[in-house]
Amino acid sequence: MQPLLMIPGPIEVSPAVREAAATAPPSHTAPGLIEAFGASLGAMRSIWRAPEGAQPFVLAGSGTLAMEMAATNLVEPGQSVLVVHHGYFGARMADMLSRRGARVRTLATDPGHAVPADQVDAELSEEPAVAVFVTHVDTSTGVRADVAGIAAMAKAHGAMVVVDGVCSTVGEVLDQARLDVDVFLTASQKAVGAPPGLALLVASPLALQARSRLLTPPPMSLDFEQWIPIMEAYEQRRPSYFATPATSLVLALRAALTEIEDHHHAGHTGVEAAWVQHAQVAQGMRAAWQALGCSLLPATEEVAANTLSALRYPEGVGPELVAAVGRRGVAVAGGLLPQLKQAYFRVGHMGWVTRQPELLERTVRAIGEALVECGHATDPEAGVAALRG
Ligand code: PMP
Repeated sequence: MQPLLMIPGPIEVSPAVREAAATAPPSHTAPGLIEAFGASLGAMRSIWRAPEGAQPFVLAGSGTLAMEMAATNLVEPGQSVLVVHHGYFGARMADMLSRRGARVRTLATDPGHAVPADQVDAELSEEPAVAVFVTHVDTSTGVRADVAGIAAMAKAHGAMVVVDGVCSTVGEVLDQARLDVDVFLTASQKAVGAPPGLALLVASPLALQARSRLLTPPPMSLDFEQWIPIMEAYEQRRPSYFATPATSLVLALRAALTEIEDHHHAGHTGVEAAWVQHAQVAQGMRAAWQALGCSLLPATEEVAANTLSALRYPEGVGPELVAAVGRRGVAVAGGLLPQLKQAYFRVGHMGWVTRQPELLERTVRAIGEALVECGHATDPEAGVAALRG
């Protein structure tokens, strides 16, 4: 039997999403697929809080493809960009932009810390950039960036803003219109709550203009201009074709986005309810880690993400913990930052499981028992009690 997936993506999906994904694959022109595609694009507008005139895109591919789409449609060889870097995925973004021929500067900090927004101001005062790229939650460190502060600084200097929301969208507060973010990208397999395989991206009117001004177009399969007519057609419930979409995944995406839109929690509805619930669950999980004697990799609770916990192994415990948790039917992930790989592990808490307290308790109990097995004196039930609050 598959373990309970508590890694930071892919995640457990709801029964309705599973059911949608398991139907016979429709054609890209089938009425049901057109409806699901169009409805998903519409739902993205509201879940992202997309600005007027923005364009949502759904492409077959993963989060990395969404990153590449942003990098190649907004930036061309020779242009200057700034990457605000909090770990593994910030480094990937910088590498990708270098391959595009951009002049890349990075602003980084020690693992576990967040780059202060005023450093972005200082950096852009020295030399402007056409765009600032930031990972909202770097899945390698569990640190949440100050996206609002960084976006405000970038905009004050006339730079576009790209937010990698692969590990944050739906799980962390982000209002694309209010923050004036030009590309807000994610993937299907994390807090969005669908299986892996879709790149999801919403581009602002400014981002679309940037593409139209490029002298070096992006690769054809990633080009906004190839895909805009297709997305428009689906949103108007017309069939269309440029490259075959991942039809089964689009059905699953529609089910996942519908669940987000229909969600109610603590007096909130829709994505706001999801934001609030992720924050509450994260707080409960952090209380459980404390009770179990595990400290966070993020330097403060304030910068700790709501979608996952990156946790230092307690004294005397190492990566064997991940396998010990696995033997209890729960999958968690090891460290991802090469220099700290042996020092920490990661637990995802996003999407459907945030609405399933018994699965969160099962996870905490499995980690507590595995810690005991690995020689750390703790009480698994104290962790569960702390989670319950
Ligand atoms: N950015 C972040 C923040 C991520 O967490 C990930 C995946 N873990 C990616 C980008 C890359 O996404 P994918 O693995 O779907 O290509």
